[in-house]
Order: sequence, then structure tokens, then C-alpha cells
Amino acid sequence: MRSAYDLVILGGGLSGSWFLFEMLLKLKTIGPEISIAVLDRAGLFFGGLPYGEYSSDRYMLMNPAEELEQTPYPDWCRANGSVGQMFSRRHFGRFLQETLRAAVAGSRHRVDLIVAEAVDLRRADGAGYVLGCGDGAVLRAGTVLLAPGSAPLRALPGLEGVPGYVPDLYRRCWPDLEREMLDRLDPQPHEGNAILVLGTNAAASELVWCVSRSQALRPRLQRVIAVSRHGRFPDGGLSGLPPFVPVALEQPGLDSAAALMAALQADIDRARAAGYSTMDAVLAARPVFFRHFAVLGLDEKRLFATQHAEAWKLATRRTPEAYDGAVRRMLAEGRLQVVAADIDPAAPSWSGGVFRVPVGGGDAVRGRMLVNCLGAAPIAATRDRLLQRIAETYGINGSGHGFPVNSDFAIDTDLYLLGPLLAGFARPDHSIWHLESIPRIVAYARSLAETVAGRMAREAADIFSGGKEYGT
Ligand SMILES: Cc1cc2nc3c(=O)[nH]c(=O)nc-3n(C[C@H](O)[C@H](O)[C@H](O)COP(=O)(O)OP(=O)(O)OC[C@H]3O[C@@H](n4cnc5c(N)ncnc54)[C@H](O)[C@@H]3O)c2cc1C
Repeated sequence: MRSAYDLVILGGGLSGSWFLFEMLLKLKTIGPEISIAVLDRAGLFFGGLPYGEYSSDRYMLMNPAEELEQTPYPDWCRANGSVGQMFSRRHFGRFLQETLRAAVAGSRHRVDLIVAEAVDLRRADGAGYVLGCGDGAVLRAGTVLLAPGSAPLRALPGLEGVPGYVPDLYRRCWPDLEREMLDRLDPQPHEGNAILVLGTNAAASELVWCVSRSQALRPRLQRVIAVSRHGRFPDGGLSGLPPFVPVALEQPGLDSAAALMAALQADIDRARAAGYSTMDAVLAARPVFFRHFAVLGLDEKRLFATQHAEAWKLATRRTPEAYDGAVRRMLAEGRLQVVAADIDPAAPSWSGGVFRVPVGGGDAVRGRMLVNCLGAAPIAATRDRLLQRIAETYGINGSGHGFPVNSDFAIDTDLYLLGPLLAGFARPDHSIWHLESIPRIVAYARSLAETVAGRMAREAADIFSGGKEYGT
């Protein structure tokens, strides 16, 4: 491993990987050879958490292959079987691995994959940056792309390390998690022989889907108990009703972020009350919503990107139809109970092998395992050392979940950001209140690579002649 690189990509997930792919394409023929390091603390190169080795073959990709046409994935599927079916995230991960490894192997640029955690980042005295790693190593970089994914999940402080507590569903593969459930549950079903899930988001419905398909768990598990503020799982699929027609979004006067969000919410609520699925409502509402959004003033766009992200995500979230079906089936069979309650992260407790979660009014739910699906913590509450360092130097943007960037996604000179931490970004033509879908990440990785490759190619003569030092 060298100690200085022209480009360091921090994070080997989809954002970092696709950025690398696009950079290698763009720098195929222009400029001299450059050195690139990809740094990942978990060694999850070309996959990250959702598509990497922690991902089970049970976890489904939300996108049909055809929807990912900006990548060679549909062609790769055809060459390896078929399209027109839903694949697992692991399948998409295998595509990423193969594609990126081939791109690196065929490139004239040097690419090092380094397993290390960046815990510090500061501007070097000359040009570039100095990255400090958890193991004490120091890397110098001319240009840095930050692609560390979302802020770490909300923690339950009293439960770290307790047996049966699962702090992050995606640090475990399903068969491994199922084995632990079998170990911890008593052999006979009884009240309390339950699995507690905090949250009813996509991760929670994925867990319900896995549990619903497990023949081994069926004879033991009394029920899954899911607790969330609103007590509602995302739905999936299409209702088959005639197309939904938005009404609130067609009213005049939707010239503020708040009014637009209220109208979207009203239409989605009306659709659900009439038996439509969220997908029906979103498909019908989205074009009208974005027509209004496009003509909002920049301040109102900013307000939307920073203040309305949570409401927008909650109103529009959906899940694969199979997951929705599993939730409905488990509810109908009495094997899933959903409780609406605000969860104080300090309140869940564990004693004698039983977890207890207070749900208000003196009531509590109990279970043998507790799975945390509460989602990402705001950056201000994170214990991630690198994110704390960036927040200290550059601040946090108004969304509380992202960092301030300019219109090129740069936090500072030669320091760029990609992925979910762009939440809260707005400029006249692009607004990001969350960046967590493959097609959008791929599109932004492409345009960012255009910017960075252009810039690096312009500076290449300097780099090549050794005229540029990456500071100390
Ligand atoms: C479980 C799950 C399922 C999803 N499913 C879909 C789907 O089906 N379809 C869809 O369109 N979108 C999906 N998404 C959304 C989107 O594709 C992901 O959010 C995407 O993986 C984001 O990629 P990323 O590279 O920004 O982050 P990540 O994939 O999280 O990668 C970040 C990487 O950075 C590394 N890292 C972090 N901090 C440091 C540090 N300090 N030092 C070194 N390395 C570090 C981590 O180890 C990690 O490998 C899903 C997201 C999740 C979480």
C-alpha cells in the first residue's frame, strides 16, 4: 500500500464503486496514469452492505432488472439467465463485483483496495487531504470522494452486546440470524416466545418476509411484535383498480414546500382510504408533484429538501409485493402484531433472557430477541468518528442527515460527497432529500465522475510530472 494517491474513494459500496467505474471509463484514454485507493472499513468492496457478502439470497432487489438500464445489469442478467423476474440483492452484488473487477483489471490506472476505517480527515498544508485511519495509518490524497453510506443506525445504548439483541439487520446473513432465533426461542410457542422488532420500515418488512418463509421457526415462534411511531408497514404492488386521479395536487396555490407536501399527503391518504395501494397513488401523483416542484423557488426547494424528507419518505414508501403479502399473511394468522408507540431508545431493557419494550400507558411488549430497525440516526447524534470530524469542520446541512455541498457536490476543494449524506441538497435543477435508490445513485455517480475526471485531467500534467505534492 502506498501512502499517497491521486484519488481516494472512501467507501466501497454502490456510490463509491459506481463512481470508480465511471472514472475508469472517463480516464480510459485521457491524461497520464493515476493512482486510486478505495478504502472500506468492512472490506465490502463493490457491494457495500445491501449488495455485499452480508446480504442473503432471501433479500430481494426492489428494482426489476429493466429499471437499471443505465447500467449493464439487464444485459448481464440476460447473459446469466434471464430478465423479467425479481432478483435478489446478492445477485445484483455479483453483477457489481464482476463488472468492477473487470473494469479495474482492464484499466491502465492503479487501483488499490484497502481495508481500513477512516477516522480523521483534514486539509493538507499543500494541496489535497490527509486521511487518518483507525489503525494509525495515514493516507494522503489529491482528491477525495466521501461515499460512506448513511449515518450509522440509531443505537439502543443499554443493549449493546446483550445476547439476542440485533443492532443492525444487515450485519448478519439470514440463515445465521434464523439459527440464532432458533437457539433463543423456547421449543414450544407461548406468550413471550416472540421476536420484537423496533420499526416498521423496509428492513422490518424484509425481516417479516424471511420469518414468514421459515418452516423451522413456525412451530416455536408465537409471534413477531413490531413497534413504530405510526404502526404501519409499507405496502406493495398495485391494487388493480382503475387509475387513481390526484385531486389535492391539482388545486391552485401549491407554491410553497409545505403546501405541496400537504397536497401530496392528502392525495395519498385519499387513495389509501379508497383501497388503492401506495404504489398506485405514487405513480399517479408523482408527475403532478414534480410539475409543481419544478417551478418552486430555490428557497422553497431547499426547504422541501431539508424539512420534508421524513414526511415524503413516510408517505411514499413501498415494499416489494412479496414482502407486503408476508406482512398481511402474518397479521391474518395472528403471527404478527403491530403496535403504534413512540420508542425512547433508552427505554428497552433486558433481564433473564427477556427483552422488554415499554409502549405507553404502563404497557410493555416482551420477547426473546430484539431487532433494531429504527433507521439512521441524525448526524448530530452519531458516534461515527469520521462523520463527527466532518461535521466539526464543515457543519451539518438543514436536513440533519447530510453535509453542505456546492452545486458540484463538493464539500471543499477536491473533496466530494456521494450517497445518502447528500440528503438536503437543492439547486434549481436538482434537489435531493434522500439518495438511496440505485438508478439515482448511478446517475449522480456518472455526472460527478464527469466533473472530477475533467478536473483531474486538467491537473494531470502537474500530477504526472510530480509537480504537485499532497501535503503533510
Ligand atoms: C438494506 C438495504 C436495501 C436496499 N435495497 C435497495 C434496492 O433494492 N433498490 C434500490 O434502488 N436501493 C436500495 N437500497 C438503497 C441504496 O441502493 C443503498 O442505500 C446504497 O447501497 C447506498 O450505497 P452507498 O455506497 O452510498 O452506501 P453503502 O452501501 O452503505 O456503502 C458505504 C460503504 O462505506 C464504508 N464506510 C463507511 N464509513 C467508513 C469509514 N469511516 N471508513 C471506511 N469505510 C467506511 C462501509 O463499510 C460501506 O461498505 C437499499 C439500502 C439498504 C440499506
